[in-house]
Amino acid sequence: MPRPIHATIDPAAFRHNYMLAKHRAGVARAWVVVKANAYGHGLFACANAVRDIADGYAMLDFAEAVALREAAFGQPILLLEGAFDPADIKDAARLGLSLVVHDAEQLRMLELARPTAPLDLCLKFNTGMNRLGFPPSAAPALVARLRESGAAKCITLMTHFARADEEAGIADALARFDAGVAGLDLPQSVANSAALMRFPAAARDWVRPGIMLYGASPMPARATAASLDLRPVMQVESRIIAVQNVAAGESVGYGARFTAERPMRVGVVACGYADGYPRHATTGTPILVEGVRTRTLGTVSMDMLACDLSALPEAGVGARVVLWGQGLSADEVAAAAGTISYELFCALAQRVPRGIGALA
Ligand SMILES: *Cc1c(COP(=O)(O)O)cnc(C)c1O
Repeated sequence: MPRPIHATIDPAAFRHNYMLAKHRAGVARAWVVVKANAYGHGLFACANAVRDIADGYAMLDFAEAVALREAAFGQPILLLEGAFDPADIKDAARLGLSLVVHDAEQLRMLELARPTAPLDLCLKFNTGMNRLGFPPSAAPALVARLRESGAAKCITLMTHFARADEEAGIADALARFDAGVAGLDLPQSVANSAALMRFPAAARDWVRPGIMLYGASPMPARATAASLDLRPVMQVESRIIAVQNVAAGESVGYGARFTAERPMRVGVVACGYADGYPRHATTGTPILVEGVRTRTLGTVSMDMLACDLSALPEAGVGARVVLWGQGLSADEVAAAAGTISYELFCALAQRVPRGIGALA
């Protein structure tokens, strides 16, 4: 029998979340951001869930983009880091892929490549992240160069915010962007999930929701996913494989990081950091056992973790455990581990078998 850990991906929840994003975006179109194997959920499970309503798909990896085209997805497909070498430009022209253009080297590649068919391009501007993008003040000159190159069919002006989920918000970055692109009558794309949910006026022409489509809050410090009507798409569950009756003063797990103050029942769950559960999750991280919320105890091991069964006298070996999913958001587990839901999702290990279906 395989280990009892497994993940379930709910396409209907993904579709619900995408429709919510589209509703929020008003007349703007919405890229379905499916980079990193759809944030660890599985590219096709998610892409297929919105196949008939998706305005376009955005990702980084050419192989994933090619896989979508080969599976007859006809929508725009945007490569968020653009071309890595000239061969990518040829592939993009052949497959009708849209490319981000974020630096001078990519611009030169486009000028030299003379693609067989002009491409849809997203010209990316740096508004404070200092990661990718041109200075906004260069926008008019860059647009002129792209037009001269003959490589561009449609040019969209784009930026990505460093602090859309924070108190500081997007006002400063958006002002830099708007000042740079003023007077250019071209479509724009600026909003990720947090910007879309907090500042819907920034929807512009194309929004780029990612994390909200997977049912996690884009701003967990301000609003829970449930309060935003987002539905979890991934559930990770397992079972109790052993129970220990621990005496007062005894410790649990590596490093004896948890010590019982009174006699207690401890459940051992078949899930550890080799499955993608965060090792930084400390004692007290929420976990569901037979639908009841309890807490983890001590250090997470490679293949196991411990939980408190004091309030669950009936729960023994075989009891069902939800690590995150329905009734326990990945945001809560991530917060207890000092990280974000994105990392939990992406870290779900290859060895965890996945199924598709409604979460229960
Ligand atoms: C990942 C990404 C997004 C989606 O961001 P979320 O915070 O997941 O909504 C949008 N735009 C770009 C450029 C990205 O890389």
